[in-house]
Amino acid sequence: MDWDNIEPDRYRLMNKNFTPGRAGHQIRYIVIHHNAGCLSIDQIWQVWQTREASAHYQVDVEGTIGQLVNDTDTAWHAADLLRNQESIGIEHANSAGPDADWPISEATRESGAHLVAALCRYYGLGRPAWGVNVRPHSETGQTSCPYRLGPNGEYGNAYITRAQYWYDQMGSATPTPAPPKETPVTDDQTALLRQIRDNTADCRAMLMALSAQDMGDPGVTGPYGGWSQTGYRTRTDLLGAIGEAVGVPGARDTKKEK
Ligand SMILES: [Zn+2]
Repeated sequence: MDWDNIEPDRYRLMNKNFTPGRAGHQIRYIVIHHNAGCLSIDQIWQVWQTREASAHYQVDVEGTIGQLVNDTDTAWHAADLLRNQESIGIEHANSAGPDADWPISEATRESGAHLVAALCRYYGLGRPAWGVNVRPHSETGQTSCPYRLGPNGEYGNAYITRAQYWYDQMGSATPTPAPPKETPVTDDQTALLRQIRDNTADCRAMLMALSAQDMGDPGVTGPYGGWSQTGYRTRTDLLGAIGEAVGVPGARDTKKEK
């Protein structure tokens, strides 16, 4: 079990008897159940094939955690639709039957409590507490489930204390350092950046215009460019021709050389 990322020991996902999604509802609490049976992960999956019921997790007698319905989906384990939409259901296997008054192994209780803590951390539900973010299936009075694991059952107190212990343990781990925040861009900075960008575009357009003027129309004037009014000379060539005509040393009319 990856407690930080609530990755279960095993997936055994239901193919029926749950509702995809949560109809926009947030997860607000966890509902605690016992199997009233000594079921493995596969066995409870089988039971829910023929019974219109399901829960998100099954903790087996060894403490192995199986996921049967994804947390993002609505399992059918609580008294009504809204309760199902707002909760995560955890089932705990019994280690013996009614003759032994439905006991639950220490491994199951320990894993279940740890799972409660991890879910409370992961979903930001707060420190586990009965009646607040951890509720017995029996809260509506329609069932005795989770019986000995409930707040008034003999395991209930130790179970929630253990969940609180694990919750505190998870909280005291060295927190992952937050990534450095990006400096927010102010309106002034946005305006300045826009101005620079616009000016850059203006400068580029001006250079292209100048360059085009210097080149003239190569389609008409050949590879060296130029303009009809300068005798198909570029501005540089025209300056050379003028220079030669007025006797500037070294200046020459390249057009004459052709
Ligand atoms: Zn129940």
